[in-house]
Amino acid sequence: MIEIKDYFRPKSVEEAYEKLINIEGAEIIGSGAFMRLASRKINLAIDLQDTGLNYVKLEKDEIKIGGATPLGEVERSEIIKEVFEGKLIHVLQSIWSVQLRNIATIGGTIFPKLGFSDLITALLVLNTDVVLFNNGRMPLEVFLTEKIRKDILVELIIKNENRKMSFQYMRNSFYDFSILNSAVSVDEERNFRISIGARPAVAKLATKAMEYLKNNNDIEEASKLAAEEMEYGSNIKASKEYRKMIAPVLVKRGLEEVIQ
Ligand SMILES: Cc1cc2nc3c(=O)[nH]c(=O)nc-3n(C[C@H](O)[C@H](O)[C@H](O)COP(=O)(O)OP(=O)(O)OC[C@H]3O[C@@H](n4cnc5c(N)ncnc54)[C@H](O)[C@@H]3O)c2cc1C
Repeated sequence: MIEIKDYFRPKSVEEAYEKLINIEGAEIIGSGAFMRLASRKINLAIDLQDTGLNYVKLEKDEIKIGGATPLGEVERSEIIKEVFEGKLIHVLQSIWSVQLRNIATIGGTIFPKLGFSDLITALLVLNTDVVLFNNGRMPLEVFLTEKIRKDILVELIIKNENRKMSFQYMRNSFYDFSILNSAVSVDEERNFRISIGARPAVAKLATKAMEYLKNNNDIEEASKLAAEEMEYGSNIKASKEYRKMIAPVLVKRGLEEVIQ
């Protein structure tokens, strides 16, 4: 159970950041859906609802999604329906229930770099940048390797390009976390992006396999390369060996789907 001492709804991100930095035990709260699963004490919960970070918009060739936007609103956005052949909607709809998606936010999903995250795996293959209030704009793959503790995820910026994408996962049942997930995308110049997540560590790009596909068409070999360049671990959901065994299968399915 979480214990919240004080609750604050700032009117701007500046105000939110000022409290986050200066008050000990202050934390940003998205919907609290994930935070409440752990037992912890929060001195000040900073709720971003009134800071104007709830939006999905298309500006030139960039799709911008505010950090306080619930996943359900992204899923129902007409913009998201139109891009990447609607495949991002398929990814969002694989996240638990409508009820959860109606509250869980983009910031609460991306900022904590949850290993099992389905959305992070998918966004990695879509040229996505993260915009943080203090640390600024950076590619999602860079953000995932940075040790940033106190900041605010202001928005995501996804390049709106003509990219075909596929998202694959393995689960014990639909209402469960992915044991392993993978996303693949390709643009018109045959630049591939491949990611594997829930290993159980957070998703990572398979850069060697991506490089291999620049000059080779052997999908079977690329899938093996992608699986081999990742590290795997065991947890309650599955063993390291099982994850390693299914990884090339998920990648191959994804590659087959995007080159059809
Ligand atoms: C029962 C359940 C099932 C789930 N199933 C899946 C699943 O199948 N697939 C999947 O991918 N995900 C799943 N999730 C994760 C879910 O999609 C969200 O990622 C999660 O709930 C966090 O979102 P939130 O808004 O509730 O964040 P919170 O719980 O409020 O916050 C999580 C963390 O993010 C921080 N935070 C929140 N917003 C910001 C911000 N704007 N800037 C900086 N830090 C911020 C908070 O300080 C906190 O540390 C599941 C979650 C739950 C509770």
